[in-house]
Amino acid sequence: MKQPSSWTLYLRLLRYVKPHWKAFAAAVVGYIIYAASSTALAEMMKRLINGIQEPTADFRLLMPLFVICMFGARGVGTFLGTYFMESVARNVVHALRMSLFGKMLKLPGRFFDEHSSGHLISRVTYHVEQVTGAVTKALTVILQEGFFVLGLTGYLFWTNWKLTLIFIAVTPIIGGVVAYASRRFRRLSRRIQKSVGDVTHVASEAISGYRVVRTHGAETFEYERFNAASEYNRAQSMKVALTKAVSAPVIQTLVAVSLALLVWLAMAPELMANMSAGAFVAFITAASMMAKPIKSLTEINGLIQRGLAASQEIFSLLDSQTEPDEGSYDPGRAKGEVTLEQVSFRYAPEQSDALKNIDLTVSPGEMIALVGRSGAGKSTLIGLMPRFYQPTSGRILIDGVKLDDYDLKALRRQISLVTQQVTLFNTTVAENIAYGQPGASHERIIAAAKAAYADEFISRLPKGYDTVIGDNGVMLSGGQRQRMAIARAIFKDAPILILDEATSALDTESERYIQRALEEVCKGRTTFVIAHRLSTIERADRILVMDQGEIIESGTHAQLLEEGGAYAALYNIQFSEQGA
Ligand code: ADP
Repeated sequence: MKQPSSWTLYLRLLRYVKPHWKAFAAAVVGYIIYAASSTALAEMMKRLINGIQEPTADFRLLMPLFVICMFGARGVGTFLGTYFMESVARNVVHALRMSLFGKMLKLPGRFFDEHSSGHLISRVTYHVEQVTGAVTKALTVILQEGFFVLGLTGYLFWTNWKLTLIFIAVTPIIGGVVAYASRRFRRLSRRIQKSVGDVTHVASEAISGYRVVRTHGAETFEYERFNAASEYNRAQSMKVALTKAVSAPVIQTLVAVSLALLVWLAMAPELMANMSAGAFVAFITAASMMAKPIKSLTEINGLIQRGLAASQEIFSLLDSQTEPDEGSYDPGRAKGEVTLEQVSFRYAPEQSDALKNIDLTVSPGEMIALVGRSGAGKSTLIGLMPRFYQPTSGRILIDGVKLDDYDLKALRRQISLVTQQVTLFNTTVAENIAYGQPGASHERIIAAAKAAYADEFISRLPKGYDTVIGDNGVMLSGGQRQRMAIARAIFKDAPILILDEATSALDTESERYIQRALEEVCKGRTTFVIAHRLSTIERADRILVMDQGEIIESGTHAQLLEEGGAYAALYNIQFSEQGA
């Protein structure tokens, strides 16, 4: 991948600063005041020394006033600069974070297959913060100290331009050191940021999967894995520290050498000519005052490079393609006829087909059970309907309209999805049922819960429908979570229902409730069930047996048993297991 130049990155970052130009301008004014008042310090030295040689009453009064005004101005400058720059920074972080999050809500399914959640999360948390360094802290120093250096240089030229030229002769060497350090900082920063992604990733896996970790006695393994990630992060950070620690004194030594040279040369009679003692001291003062801003300017380099490396990651995410959404068809509520014409799909060009030439027509209200070995393509087939993925060839139609022609939101409104892994959000039971529809009526929510046989256990929760169910609903049992998901689907009331039955065994009581809840939710909807339970399969209007991406058998339960093919074999195995 071609690395964008620092300038392109910086200019792009500055676009986020643009809306806050007023605060930015205030900060710049602050820096100019700061630089001017600091430069005045050198002039003060000149007057002081010249004044001491020939003291007057005026001088005695004016000098202290001058000091107060100078520091007062400097204070105002510092305040304006610091405060307004921080305000710009926080606004930029917020804006970047929001565009990243907004983007993540629109990325296609493929993207989440390719990127770990840890790395994605670290971009909205860590990377974004890194950018502030480049945008504001660095700008603060560049502007504040930059103006100061400019002021000092101007003052030096004004005092004695020949000496100044000599002083400036060392700048190319300093430039070289800075350039080398920049490249190194940027490379290391990229590594550090990636390692933060690794750290987040390993930690989140170990936290969310703590039961598996403990039961497999994998604590040491996870500990070591985390250690490796964190250690890598530490090592890279130390390399940054080393570069910083070496480059700053090297640069300062260079400045000191040139200062020394300056003093030596300044003593030369031909250069000293017509310089007062005060002017001479002021010159040396101004020259030595250069050391601090130059040091700050070089130290800031690491920060800028870190921010640029982070912004590169952020921009690459912002530039990635979102889900295609070009259609505009919105049927309101579709009837629910689903047609697949010669649909093939593969997840990646190098993989084999997960679906091969599927032809299927489903009438509104029909219930289709999908059965087959794991890896047969059942989930893949179902994932194409809400357009999580696009078919590689062929087309899918709902009510005779191609999925691509639908407005994406309108399309997804037609489909309810009940997955095996029920996702519950850390909010109230009511909001979980009416998910995506804030402000829904309480009666409708309760009606949906009742239809899903969930009302009973919800009423027994400490705060009923207003109980906050914690991270991913940890305080609910598997069966209860399933019923929550069904209640959500009933509430959504979409014409098409996709159901991925839980494979895990439930107690008979839960099982019975869920069975009834499922019957309820299927009523009047086109239903696709990835079926594991015999009862569901027997009830289905049509059973499709899938194998290696193809539909190999199709018919009702009785027909398929009669045929004595793959389905009959599958059924017999399950039946004997159930009987056992
Ligand atoms: P089933 O639901 O019948 O168990 P799937 O539809 O999940 O089967 O899988 C069909 C094929 O597609 C399998 O070979 C599987 O390895 C592959 N597959 C499933 N999901 C992905 C994915 N996100 N990326 C790449 N390949 C996948």
